[in-house]
Amino acid sequence: MKPFSVIENRIWISATLEMQTALAVGSRLSIEPTGTDMPVIKDTNGRPFIPGSSLKGVFRFHTERLLRTIDRKPDLWACDPFGDPCVRPADKDSLMSQAERQAKHESQSVDAIFAKMVFQHSCAACRLFGSPWFASRIAFKDAYLKNHEDLPVLYQIRDGVGIDRDLGAARSGIKYDFETVVPGAQFAIEIVGENLEDWEIGLLLTVLQLWSDGGIAIGGKSTRGPGWGTLREIALRRVDRTNLLDYLRQRSAPPVSDWETFRNAFSAKLQEVGHA
Ligand SMILES: [Zn+2]
Repeated sequence: MKPFSVIENRIWISATLEMQTALAVGSRLSIEPTGTDMPVIKDTNGRPFIPGSSLKGVFRFHTERLLRTIDRKPDLWACDPFGDPCVRPADKDSLMSQAERQAKHESQSVDAIFAKMVFQHSCAACRLFGSPWFASRIAFKDAYLKNHEDLPVLYQIRDGVGIDRDLGAARSGIKYDFETVVPGAQFAIEIVGENLEDWEIGLLLTVLQLWSDGGIAIGGKSTRGPGWGTLREIALRRVDRTNLLDYLRQRSAPPVSDWETFRNAFSAKLQEVGHA
């Protein structure tokens, strides 16, 4: 476990997300007088963007799916954060009294031991993306449109048809429309990670690979088609103790072209848990 109070390392991953199909990331509420039922969320220039929280949600979902396939405790598994969380609020008292007992025999504080215990009981997804117990070590920035000048139109209105849950069939009278961003739109993706182990970076790169292969959809309508895109131009930069001074001098971290270290660390972790 890396201590949270010290920055051991920081990574930046940048990429371009190019939409193959339309994108529907709705703001859910139209405040425009002629607005559609579900407009796309826009920045102050009226251009679409994808909120970092939406990207993180999608990315976490796919990381959890991968971890559930591996499913090896203590390091490579994912809980169900809503139904069956790895550390329940009710576990707090028993973990705290264990920490208090242990603190009598150790030089560490009760808080430090407690934090370590919660971390040990937590699944890999909560350790990376956060839980009610600790902050996320990965942040997704809002992704802004890169190529508005190349796109003749930015938006298209589509018709949606509500499905009657009882009949399982489209029923007239519950039609609605929603706004989408046109296919071909490119968004600038930026991810920042702090104090990640090499194997955790390898795990992230594996999920990014899925995305660059076109296997991940974004947005509320993904089951009906929109939201599919591919990641291109993925670049990784990393700062740690060995190049911290250079980073501070130059204000930018050098790109890491060799990802084998991280991929190998992830493979080694898989082997360690007996699932290679
Ligand atoms: Zn969890």
